[in-house]
Amino acid sequence: MKAFATRFAPSPTGYLHRGHAFSALTAFAAARDAGGRFVLRIEDIDATRSRPEYEAAILEDLAWLGLAWEQPVRRQSEHLADYHAAIETLRMRGLVYRCFKTRKELDIGRAPHEPAAPYRGAPPPAAEEAERLSRGEAFAWRLSLDAAQAALGGFSDLAFVEEGAGPEGETGLIRARPETAGDIVLARKDVGVAYHLAVVLDDALQGITHVIRGVDLFEAAHIQRLLQALLGLPTPVYRHHRLLAGPDGKRYAKRDKAQTLRELRAAGMTPQALRAEMGL
Ligand code: GLU
Repeated sequence: MKAFATRFAPSPTGYLHRGHAFSALTAFAAARDAGGRFVLRIEDIDATRSRPEYEAAILEDLAWLGLAWEQPVRRQSEHLADYHAAIETLRMRGLVYRCFKTRKELDIGRAPHEPAAPYRGAPPPAAEEAERLSRGEAFAWRLSLDAAQAALGGFSDLAFVEEGAGPEGETGLIRARPETAGDIVLARKDVGVAYHLAVVLDDALQGITHVIRGVDLFEAAHIQRLLQALLGLPTPVYRHHRLLAGPDGKRYAKRDKAQTLRELRAAGMTPQALRAEMGL
Protein backbone atom coordinates (compact mmCIF):
# COMPACT_ATOMS: atom_id res chain seq x y z
CA MET A 1 0.00 0.00 0.00
CA LYS A 2 1.15 3.52 -0.75
CA ALA A 3 2.15 5.65 2.21
CA PHE A 4 -0.58 8.01 3.39
CA ALA A 5 -0.32 11.44 1.82
CA THR A 6 -2.72 14.31 1.94
CA ARG A 7 -2.69 17.96 0.95
CA PHE A 8 -4.02 21.43 1.56
CA ALA A 9 -4.52 23.21 -1.75
CA PRO A 10 -5.55 26.84 -1.29
CA SER A 11 -6.03 29.34 -4.09
CA PRO A 12 -4.16 32.59 -3.37
CA THR A 13 -7.15 34.79 -4.17
CA GLY A 14 -7.64 36.17 -0.68
CA TYR A 15 -6.51 35.79 2.92
CA LEU A 16 -7.11 32.54 4.76
CA HIS A 17 -10.01 32.52 7.22
CA ARG A 18 -11.13 30.20 10.00
CA GLY A 19 -12.64 27.74 7.49
CA HIS A 20 -9.28 27.32 5.76
CA ALA A 21 -7.56 26.87 9.12
CA PHE A 22 -10.01 24.09 9.98
CA SER A 23 -9.36 22.35 6.67
CA ALA A 24 -5.58 22.68 6.85
CA LEU A 25 -5.43 21.54 10.49
CA THR A 26 -7.71 18.57 9.75
CA ALA A 27 -5.54 17.41 6.86
CA PHE A 28 -2.34 18.01 8.78
CA ALA A 29 -3.59 16.02 11.81
CA ALA A 30 -4.65 13.14 9.55
CA ALA A 31 -1.17 12.98 8.01
CA ARG A 32 0.48 13.12 11.42
CA ASP A 33 -1.80 10.41 12.87
CA ALA A 34 -1.09 8.15 9.89
CA GLY A 35 2.64 8.87 9.96
CA GLY A 36 2.20 10.14 6.41
CA ARG A 37 3.01 13.14 4.23
CA PHE A 38 1.41 16.56 4.25
CA VAL A 39 1.68 18.57 1.07
CA LEU A 40 0.86 22.22 0.48
CA ARG A 41 -0.10 23.12 -3.07
CA ILE A 42 -0.73 26.62 -4.36
CA GLU A 43 -3.62 26.54 -6.85
CA ASP A 44 -2.93 29.75 -8.73
CA ILE A 45 -4.06 28.86 -12.25
CA ASP A 46 -6.56 31.71 -12.20
CA ALA A 47 -4.07 34.42 -13.10
CA THR A 48 -6.65 37.19 -12.92
CA ARG A 49 -7.49 36.55 -9.26
CA SER A 50 -4.29 35.06 -7.78
CA ARG A 51 -1.79 37.40 -6.18
CA PRO A 52 1.72 36.80 -4.83
CA GLU A 53 0.94 38.71 -1.64
CA TYR A 54 -1.88 36.29 -0.85
CA GLU A 55 0.46 33.36 -1.40
CA ALA A 56 3.02 34.88 0.96
CA ALA A 57 0.27 35.42 3.53
CA ILE A 58 -0.87 31.79 3.19
CA LEU A 59 2.61 30.50 4.00
CA GLU A 60 2.88 32.88 6.95
CA ASP A 61 -0.56 32.02 8.34
CA LEU A 62 -0.02 28.26 8.06
CA ALA A 63 3.35 28.49 9.78
CA TRP A 64 1.69 30.54 12.54
CA LEU A 65 -0.88 27.74 12.92
CA GLY A 66 2.03 25.39 13.58
CA LEU A 67 1.91 23.47 10.30
CA ALA A 68 4.94 22.18 8.41
CA TRP A 69 4.89 20.90 4.86
CA GLU A 70 7.09 19.29 2.25
CA GLN A 71 9.38 21.39 0.09
CA PRO A 72 9.31 22.50 -2.62
CA VAL A 73 5.75 23.75 -2.67
CA ARG A 74 4.09 23.06 -6.00
CA ARG A 75 2.69 26.15 -7.68
CA GLN A 76 0.23 25.27 -10.44
CA SER A 77 0.99 28.34 -12.55
CA GLU A 78 4.46 26.91 -13.17
CA HIS A 79 3.07 23.74 -14.76
CA LEU A 80 0.57 24.99 -17.31
CA ALA A 81 2.37 23.13 -20.10
CA ASP A 82 1.73 19.82 -18.30
CA TYR A 83 -1.98 20.54 -18.02
CA HIS A 84 -2.17 21.48 -21.68
CA ALA A 85 -0.34 18.29 -22.61
CA ALA A 86 -3.06 16.32 -20.81
CA ILE A 87 -5.74 18.17 -22.76
CA GLU A 88 -3.85 17.34 -25.95
CA THR A 89 -3.86 13.65 -24.96
CA LEU A 90 -7.62 13.82 -24.48
CA ARG A 91 -7.99 15.65 -27.78
CA MET A 92 -6.10 12.98 -29.68
CA ARG A 93 -8.50 10.42 -28.26
CA GLY A 94 -11.51 12.44 -29.37
CA LEU A 95 -12.62 13.18 -25.81
CA VAL A 96 -12.65 16.95 -26.00
CA TYR A 97 -14.12 19.34 -28.54
CA ARG A 98 -13.97 23.03 -29.34
CA CYS A 99 -17.01 24.94 -28.19
CA PHE A 100 -17.45 28.41 -29.71
CA LYS A 101 -20.56 29.35 -27.75
CA THR A 102 -20.23 32.63 -25.91
CA ARG A 103 -21.46 33.07 -22.33
CA LYS A 104 -24.30 35.14 -23.73
CA GLU A 105 -25.39 32.36 -26.08
CA LEU A 106 -25.23 29.83 -23.26
CA ASP A 107 -27.31 32.08 -21.01
CA ILE A 108 -30.21 32.49 -23.46
CA GLY A 109 -33.47 31.79 -21.68
CA ARG A 110 -31.93 31.69 -18.23
CA ALA A 111 -33.20 33.96 -15.45
CA PRO A 112 -30.43 35.74 -13.53
CA HIS A 113 -31.06 33.76 -10.32
CA GLU A 114 -31.11 30.38 -12.07
CA PRO A 115 -27.90 28.34 -12.07
CA ALA A 116 -26.54 27.61 -15.54
CA ALA A 117 -27.88 24.32 -16.85
CA PRO A 118 -25.26 21.63 -17.48
CA TYR A 119 -24.18 22.00 -21.08
CA ARG A 120 -24.07 19.05 -23.46
CA GLY A 121 -22.92 19.70 -26.97
CA ALA A 122 -20.85 18.63 -29.91
CA PRO A 123 -18.17 20.24 -32.06
CA PRO A 124 -19.41 22.32 -34.97
CA PRO A 125 -19.18 20.73 -38.45
CA ALA A 126 -15.57 20.67 -39.69
CA ALA A 127 -16.02 23.43 -42.29
CA GLU A 128 -17.67 25.77 -39.78
CA GLU A 129 -15.00 25.01 -37.20
CA ALA A 130 -12.22 25.79 -39.69
CA GLU A 131 -13.90 29.04 -40.62
CA ARG A 132 -14.38 30.14 -37.02
CA LEU A 133 -10.76 29.27 -36.27
CA SER A 134 -9.52 31.21 -39.27
CA ARG A 135 -11.50 34.21 -38.03
CA GLY A 136 -9.69 33.88 -34.70
CA GLU A 137 -12.88 33.25 -32.72
CA ALA A 138 -12.38 32.32 -29.07
CA PHE A 139 -13.37 28.83 -28.00
CA ALA A 140 -13.32 26.55 -24.97
CA TRP A 141 -12.14 22.96 -24.86
CA ARG A 142 -14.98 20.94 -23.41
CA LEU A 143 -14.90 17.37 -22.23
CA SER A 144 -17.47 15.36 -24.17
CA LEU A 145 -19.56 13.21 -21.85
CA ASP A 146 -20.82 11.20 -24.82
CA ALA A 147 -17.28 10.42 -25.96
CA ALA A 148 -16.18 9.70 -22.38
CA GLN A 149 -19.11 7.35 -21.88
CA ALA A 150 -18.26 5.52 -25.09
CA ALA A 151 -14.56 5.30 -24.18
CA LEU A 152 -15.27 3.86 -20.74
CA GLY A 153 -18.25 1.70 -21.73
CA GLY A 154 -20.51 3.76 -19.47
CA PHE A 155 -20.06 5.34 -16.07
CA SER A 156 -21.48 2.53 -13.93
CA ASP A 157 -18.03 1.36 -12.80
CA LEU A 158 -16.94 4.84 -11.77
CA ALA A 159 -16.86 5.02 -7.99
CA PHE A 160 -14.88 6.54 -5.17
CA VAL A 161 -14.58 5.92 -1.47
CA GLU A 162 -15.88 8.67 0.79
CA GLU A 163 -14.56 8.43 4.33
CA GLY A 164 -16.17 11.69 5.37
CA ALA A 165 -19.60 12.67 4.15
CA GLY A 166 -21.28 14.50 1.30
CA PRO A 167 -23.92 17.19 1.85
CA GLU A 168 -26.65 14.53 2.11
CA GLY A 169 -24.57 12.35 4.39
CA GLU A 170 -23.28 10.24 1.48
CA THR A 171 -20.48 8.01 2.69
CA GLY A 172 -18.73 4.74 1.82
CA LEU A 173 -18.53 3.61 -1.76
CA ILE A 174 -20.10 6.33 -3.91
CA ARG A 175 -21.05 5.97 -7.55
CA ALA A 176 -19.73 8.95 -9.45
CA ARG A 177 -22.28 11.00 -11.39
CA PRO A 178 -20.13 13.11 -13.71
CA GLU A 179 -23.10 13.61 -16.03
CA THR A 180 -24.71 16.10 -13.64
CA ALA A 181 -22.01 18.64 -14.48
CA GLY A 182 -22.45 18.40 -18.26
CA ASP A 183 -19.58 18.81 -20.71
CA ILE A 184 -17.21 20.72 -18.46
CA VAL A 185 -14.79 23.31 -19.78
CA LEU A 186 -11.21 22.08 -19.50
CA ALA A 187 -9.55 25.15 -20.93
CA ARG A 188 -10.50 28.54 -22.21
CA LYS A 189 -8.62 31.65 -23.23
CA ASP A 190 -9.37 33.56 -20.03
CA VAL A 191 -9.29 30.59 -17.63
CA GLY A 192 -6.30 28.79 -19.15
CA VAL A 193 -6.95 25.44 -17.59
CA ALA A 194 -9.80 24.19 -15.44
CA TYR A 195 -9.31 23.56 -11.75
CA HIS A 196 -10.56 19.95 -12.07
CA LEU A 197 -7.88 18.98 -14.54
CA ALA A 198 -5.01 20.54 -12.61
CA VAL A 199 -6.21 18.93 -9.38
CA VAL A 200 -6.40 15.37 -10.67
CA LEU A 201 -3.02 15.60 -12.39
CA ASP A 202 -1.33 17.11 -9.35
CA ASP A 203 -2.93 14.74 -6.85
CA ALA A 204 -1.57 11.82 -8.89
CA LEU A 205 1.84 13.38 -9.42
CA GLN A 206 2.22 14.19 -5.74
CA GLY A 207 1.12 10.68 -4.68
CA ILE A 208 -1.90 11.95 -2.76
CA THR A 209 -3.74 8.98 -1.23
CA HIS A 210 -6.35 11.00 0.69
CA VAL A 211 -8.08 14.17 -0.43
CA ILE A 212 -9.25 15.97 2.70
CA ARG A 213 -11.27 19.13 2.03
CA GLY A 214 -14.56 20.88 2.70
CA VAL A 215 -17.87 19.32 1.72
CA ASP A 216 -18.43 22.25 -0.68
CA LEU A 217 -16.13 20.34 -3.03
CA PHE A 218 -18.02 17.03 -2.84
CA GLU A 219 -19.58 17.48 -6.28
CA ALA A 220 -16.10 18.10 -7.68
CA ALA A 221 -15.13 14.54 -6.74
CA HIS A 222 -17.69 13.20 -9.23
CA ILE A 223 -16.09 15.10 -12.09
CA GLN A 224 -12.56 14.46 -10.92
CA ARG A 225 -13.26 10.72 -10.74
CA LEU A 226 -14.16 10.77 -14.44
CA LEU A 227 -10.98 12.63 -15.36
CA GLN A 228 -8.92 10.13 -13.37
CA ALA A 229 -10.51 7.27 -15.31
CA LEU A 230 -9.90 8.94 -18.67
CA LEU A 231 -6.31 9.84 -17.89
CA GLY A 232 -5.48 6.51 -16.23
CA LEU A 233 -4.72 8.13 -12.87
CA PRO A 234 -5.24 6.54 -9.46
CA THR A 235 -8.27 7.60 -7.42
CA PRO A 236 -7.52 8.83 -3.92
CA VAL A 237 -9.82 8.23 -0.97
CA TYR A 238 -11.98 11.29 -0.26
CA ARG A 239 -12.70 12.74 3.15
CA HIS A 240 -15.00 15.70 2.82
CA HIS A 241 -15.44 17.49 6.10
CA ARG A 242 -18.13 19.79 7.43
CA LEU A 243 -17.79 23.50 6.86
CA LEU A 244 -17.12 25.61 9.86
CA ALA A 245 -19.94 28.04 10.57
CA GLY A 246 -19.65 31.40 12.28
CA PRO A 247 -21.79 32.59 15.20
CA ASP A 248 -24.46 33.63 12.68
CA GLY A 249 -24.66 30.04 11.41
CA LYS A 250 -23.21 31.04 8.02
CA ARG A 251 -20.05 29.45 6.74
CA TYR A 252 -16.89 31.49 6.62
CA ALA A 253 -16.04 32.98 3.26
CA LYS A 254 -13.32 35.11 1.79
CA ARG A 255 -15.57 38.16 1.99
CA ASP A 256 -15.60 38.06 5.83
CA LYS A 257 -12.59 40.30 6.15
CA ALA A 258 -12.64 40.47 9.93
CA GLN A 259 -12.37 36.72 10.22
CA THR A 260 -9.10 36.26 8.36
CA LEU A 261 -6.33 34.55 10.28
CA ARG A 262 -4.26 37.75 10.09
CA GLU A 263 -7.03 39.79 11.70
CA LEU A 264 -7.50 37.19 14.41
CA ARG A 265 -3.78 37.10 15.05
CA ALA A 266 -3.62 40.91 15.21
CA ALA A 267 -6.47 40.81 17.70
CA GLY A 268 -4.40 38.57 19.97
CA MET A 269 -5.84 35.14 19.11
CA THR A 270 -3.37 32.27 19.60
CA PRO A 271 -3.22 29.13 17.43
CA GLN A 272 -3.96 27.08 20.56
CA ALA A 273 -7.14 29.05 21.26
CA LEU A 274 -8.20 28.74 17.62
CA ARG A 275 -7.69 24.98 17.63
CA ALA A 276 -9.58 24.62 20.90
CA GLU A 277 -12.45 26.69 19.48
CA MET A 278 -12.65 24.30 16.51
CA GLY A 279 -12.51 21.24 18.72
CA LEU A 280 -9.19 20.14 17.24
N1 GLU B 1 -8.03 25.19 -4.62
C1 GLU B 1 -9.32 24.81 -4.15
C2 GLU B 1 -9.90 25.89 -3.25
O1 GLU B 1 -9.16 26.71 -2.75
C3 GLU B 1 -9.29 23.51 -3.36
C4 GLU B 1 -9.02 22.35 -4.21
C5 GLU B 1 -9.14 20.99 -3.54
O2 GLU B 1 -8.95 20.87 -2.32
O3 GLU B 1 -9.37 20.04 -4.27
O4 GLU B 1 -11.10 25.91 -3.05
